[in-house]
Amino acid sequence: MDKFDVFIFGTGTAGQLVAKECAAAGKKVAIIDIREYGGVCSQRGCDPKKLLLASSEAFESSKNMYGDGVTGEIEINWQDAFNYARRYTSNIPQNTEKNLKEKGIICYHGKASFKDAHTITLDGQEIKSDHFVIATGMQPLSLGIPGEKYAMTSGDFFNLKDIPEKVVFIGGGYIGMEFGHLLCRAGSKVTIIDKGNQILSPFDEFTSNLLEEESIKMGIQIIKNSQVSSIEKVNDRYLVHYSLDNSIHQITTDCVFNTAGRVPSIEELNLEQANVVTNHDGILVNSKLQSTSQSHIYACGDSSSRSLPLTPLSSIEAKVVADNLNGKNRKLKIPAIPSSVFTIPQCSGIGLTESQAIEANKTYHTVESNASDWFNNQRINSPLYGYKIILENDSNKILGAHIVGPEAAEQINMFAVAMKANMTFEELKDVIFNYPTWGNDIKSF
Ligand SMILES: Cc1cc2nc3c(=O)[nH]c(=O)nc-3n(C[C@H](O)[C@H](O)[C@H](O)COP(=O)(O)OP(=O)(O)OC[C@H]3O[C@@H](n4cnc5c(N)ncnc54)[C@H](O)[C@@H]3O)c2cc1C
Repeated sequence: MDKFDVFIFGTGTAGQLVAKECAAAGKKVAIIDIREYGGVCSQRGCDPKKLLLASSEAFESSKNMYGDGVTGEIEINWQDAFNYARRYTSNIPQNTEKNLKEKGIICYHGKASFKDAHTITLDGQEIKSDHFVIATGMQPLSLGIPGEKYAMTSGDFFNLKDIPEKVVFIGGGYIGMEFGHLLCRAGSKVTIIDKGNQILSPFDEFTSNLLEEESIKMGIQIIKNSQVSSIEKVNDRYLVHYSLDNSIHQITTDCVFNTAGRVPSIEELNLEQANVVTNHDGILVNSKLQSTSQSHIYACGDSSSRSLPLTPLSSIEAKVVADNLNGKNRKLKIPAIPSSVFTIPQCSGIGLTESQAIEANKTYHTVESNASDWFNNQRINSPLYGYKIILENDSNKILGAHIVGPEAAEQINMFAVAMKANMTFEELKDVIFNYPTWGNDIKSF
């Protein structure tokens, strides 16, 4: 029977980091994945999405400068754009596995599950380990509606053969909005149906509403306060039934994507056999990222219940787990977390939204403006730029920052530094930035 010091489920950002750090510390380490090695971010998430976006960005900036220096026909070749992204992702599984093996890590494939708290089974074989790490990420939420099987998921997006004439996204979160923008620029007629009254609900209403208006101007149809009740296949198209204003409506489309949210991928692991407690956010862990019911079983990344499902968080959590397994006694400390929607323009936020500030009984004031006519935005003929900063009344500390604009994600990074360093808004504005840059604009916020 194989026996290890540390056995890791999942080869994404989190699992790989723990495996490498524990192997480097001299531990006997094994890792397993139910699919190809490498995880979501590099193959079905952040990176291929940004690669696809590169041609959209080039298209958009050329289009915006048309007649002001750019001339001639500009078009996106989507086959080339998809191939470009696939060229990057195609070698990841074998390179990831090779890299892990070179570090002495034993690599398994398949579906292993717990037999008891120290034993798992894989294809009838028993494997024991002193510690386990669950880093199995997330998967699309089940819609629970008739015809759900016709809905594609975010992973399928990267395997699209052709650009659909019409497409429906169920869910106006960041994945639906990002993919919706990509396909709209590619020429698809895009509809986004969301059950709430605000798209991008975790973001501040100010930036989310500005992005919604811009998306509608681009030609995206956004239907809010609406539930999709079923999907029907009619010949080679689909009929999506949705409720709106107390009646049922239909929309015909060439494809449908389930972008309604993601849930922890933990149901295959037979966690009850190991007495590992979970809830809808994932595996319940303490501040050292140990299961609250089994201290030798850790969880990190999207499958732990501790933090937002973002790649930088998976890395931070994985580092805490690795340090604890290597005897360093670390607790998870998370500073304010920036997050972005990579539409064009981008929508970014950090810290509290205004409604969260109200809910938390903060005494605050906001500094906000539509800055679309500012120099940096005008220079590239971009249609939209705006910000809202939420400041604590007495201290002038930054409680939250929200930006929509061409470089919002980079500008929010400045606020991430300021908030980590506990700077006041004035202290951030005292910094000398390069002129004329988007960072320097913060001085005029
Ligand atoms: C379309 C999309 C776009 C995204 N864009 C961004 C972005 O721009 N920025 C950002 O910060 N984050 C983004 N994310 C989120 C980011 O990808 C995740 O937060 C990150 O990948 C989580 O890493 P992880 O290691 O926890 O899990 P994952 O990368 O999901 O890795 C988990 C691994 O576990 C495997 N696994 C699952 N079940 C089992 C099992 N039972 N046994 C063994 N292995 C199993 C999976 O196959 C997978 O390889 C995006 C996600 C998606 C879907």
